[in-house]
Formats: sequence, structure tokens, C-alpha cells
Amino acid sequence: MTPLWACRAIIFDLDGTLTVPQHNFDEIRDALGIPQGALILEHLAALPQPEQRDKRAELDAIELAIAKESQPAPGVIELLDQLRANNLPFAILTRNSARNAWASLYAINAHEYFSADLVIGRDEATPKPDPAGINLLASRLGQTVTNCAMIGDFRHDLEAGTRAGCHTVHIRHGDARVWPEITQTTVSSLEALRTELNL
Ligand SMILES: [Mg+2]
Repeated sequence: MTPLWACRAIIFDLDGTLTVPQHNFDEIRDALGIPQGALILEHLAALPQPEQRDKRAELDAIELAIAKESQPAPGVIELLDQLRANNLPFAILTRNSARNAWASLYAINAHEYFSADLVIGRDEATPKPDPAGINLLASRLGQTVTNCAMIGDFRHDLEAGTRAGCHTVHIRHGDARVWPEITQTTVSSLEALRTELNL
């Protein structure tokens, strides 16, 4: 496993990783009539049309409203500046839609750090925990997946990273639950991540 400081490209989750966590997925499940504990995207994908189409539109609208209220995670701009200064390329892989990801990036004033081909949402690749988005981004970043770090705040991020062969970093908020079997490095903030990256 490539140590974190030796990774040559970074793939970030967006919501709750580069932004302050604000999604309440249980409330979203309730609003969409999805059973608690079910994976939202996967549950919707199994619904018949036109219900599936209607509920996906409802989900997009709920998440767009949340995206527009995004707050930057402490230290996010400093981290992106340092990555850029050190020629470490970076990208975003989210289970949200790319459109909503861009709404979040504008809200936290980080949009100019990213190009369209390096923000991958649920419609551009099979969503995490599937590793498809990581494989796609690694090639666009010009690196092998084993030289990439996958950084996120939830199990899907760490599972996708592990399945792809990345170094996985858990951004652990407070006493949030942990997944040690799929986590190589745990940090409590983006500032701590900068330290781990020797930036
Ligand atoms: Mg997240």
C-alpha cells in the first residue's frame, strides 16, 4: 500500500469532506418514502418507472437545496492551494449529482479549483462503493489507482477506495463510527490531513 505522503493524486468525497456535514440521510429517506437503513440510490434504481424518475427528481431537488447552503470545511481552501502549489492533482467523486456538486463548490467558493472532467457524480460512473469512479478519475489524473488517495467521511468512500486499491483516508468528525478494516489513515480535519500529506 502506498503511504499517504507518497500518493501522487487525491480523490475527495465532497459532502461532509470538503464541506461541513449537513446531509441528514434519514430525513431524506423519510421524505422519499425509503426504508431506514436502505441505500438511497440503490433503492431508487430498483423502483419501477415512472416512480423511479419522479423520486430521483425529488432527490435532486432536496439535495440541490442542501448544496446551495454548503459551508466550507475548515481549511479547505488552504489545502487545495497547497495541493496545487505542490503539483498534486485532485478530483471529486460524489454520490450526489454533478450539478449539485457544482452548486456546493460555488457555495464554498472552491469551484475554480476543479475542471468539469474531474467532478464525477452518480450519473457519470456507477456510484461509490463501486470503484468505477475512482478508476475513471485515476486515469484522468494520470496516475495508477495505487498511487491515489481516496479521502472521505463515510463507509462508501473507504469501501470504494479499498476495492480500487487506493490509500484510504477517513475524515472522522468527532466520535463518528469507524471502519478500521477499510481505513488506512484517520484524521479529524482537513488541517490534520495537510499535516499527514507533509504540505
Ligand atoms: Mg460524504
